[in-house]
Amino acid sequence: MPKNKSKNAFYFFMLDWKRRAEAQGRKFPNGLKDVQREPECNEEWQCLTKQEKGPYEAMAKNDKITSQISSKDKKTSYGESINMIEQKELEIMKFKKEMQENIKVIIKSAVNLNFLPKLKFCIVHVNYFFTKIVNNALEYFPAEYAFGVFSLENGIEEVHHAIVSTKIPLGYRREALETSANSHNIPVEYPGGETDFVVMYKKLVDFLDSRKLVDQYPYLYTTTTNMGAVQSLITKLSDAAQENKDQFKIYELESLFTHLANEAYKNRTDRDINCIPIYAGHIFTRYTYIFEKGFECHFHKYVDGGTEHCSKSVLQQWAWTLCDEFCEPLGVVMQPGVHKPKKSKTDISQVMTNLMSNLKVNDTHESATESKAILSMTGVSERHRLKVSSRTYQEEMRRRNESKPIQMIDYGKESANKPIDDPVNKLNKSVEEEDKCVPNYLNEKPLRPPNINKNIYALPVNDLSIDDEESFPPIGGRGVPIRSRLGARKLPLGKGESDLWTHR
Ligand SMILES: [Zn+2]
Repeated sequence: MPKNKSKNAFYFFMLDWKRRAEAQGRKFPNGLKDVQREPECNEEWQCLTKQEKGPYEAMAKNDKITSQISSKDKKTSYGESINMIEQKELEIMKFKKEMQENIKVIIKSAVNLNFLPKLKFCIVHVNYFFTKIVNNALEYFPAEYAFGVFSLENGIEEVHHAIVSTKIPLGYRREALETSANSHNIPVEYPGGETDFVVMYKKLVDFLDSRKLVDQYPYLYTTTTNMGAVQSLITKLSDAAQENKDQFKIYELESLFTHLANEAYKNRTDRDINCIPIYAGHIFTRYTYIFEKGFECHFHKYVDGGTEHCSKSVLQQWAWTLCDEFCEPLGVVMQPGVHKPKKSKTDISQVMTNLMSNLKVNDTHESATESKAILSMTGVSERHRLKVSSRTYQEEMRRRNESKPIQMIDYGKESANKPIDDPVNKLNKSVEEEDKCVPNYLNEKPLRPPNINKNIYALPVNDLSIDDEESFPPIGGRGVPIRSRLGARKLPLGKGESDLWTHR
């Protein structure tokens, strides 16, 4: 903790005193240091009453609060240092800038060498079992991963794939099972998978080694949504093998798309170059190819929904998406099974579009042929039915005039008004008819006061047993028990009852 540098009340008093003294013509070349040495100032401070010191005390308190707020070591509600967060953000910004620059350079040089369709990219997808928070960052525990080498000319050339079967740490099994059931369906600790992160690291490095460029592993591209999982995987493998994870650079597939599009869309008329960032953010979230079978791993081949979630399959989907956008403008002929799915969906959709455009839907009643054509079960045409069943204006008006107002029957009054031969009832009838609006219950007999035994008030208090007092509500209302109304002593808890008995 930094030393508390907030000022005390005396400091603010000194400032005040200095101002007053300077108004009288005195000078303090060393500022407050001189003031502090002045016996007059000290004396005056000692003589101040508590009330007179109050304003200075308040100023000191305010100063303390503001100094705490503006302190350099501010923390968030999670206890993270804001400085650290800002530094991290700067690092991320720097990394992103570097990423954009690097991708731009790669694409530009490939274009200059007329090499872009042959340029190889390494794309990565990771499925995970669960996440946990380590040092305020999400860590993903891998379930399956696939590294693919891709070029626009040859599609996906090679894939390195693995299912992770290492033991799930204590306390995370439940989450692992749930995540699995909701997405990739890989069983926890699947018997056919890899169990050692060191071995996994070695296999990965073997795969990437041949693609090294000047001692640098190829950039690994993944979508922004999968970025965290890929980073966690690289960290986990590198840490297990005690290698530096920074030798692997993980870049955004969206950024790669943007830079490719900047080049390729020059030859495409159906794409708006201004919208490239929007395409990039959206294009890898499309479900165009999720049902294309044949590219899953050995496990996902026989699993329901495997094509959608399998890492291998996802890589293929990304590759098709890139090919679909860039092959044609770069002069690569699209081959089914390489640059697009074997059963081309576009052909089917073309047929469907043609079929739909030939369909004519006419739903107006005016069309004579249409109305004639529709026959009901009785063989009457629609037009005839409308003509016969609809009313003319005169008919409608007559119907309205003939109709009677709605009659209300009040069954509550019916019994009171029924004719009885009772002479009293006959006499009352005229009166009743006059004030018919008076509700029935007001004509009933008035309420009688309840029967109360007056003797109960005369009973001596001692005759009321404790049981009565407990089981009946207190007389007199307001919830005051009879005992306290009569000024009975309130007994301590626990002892109360036996004491009362002895008093009796
Ligand atoms: Zn799979």
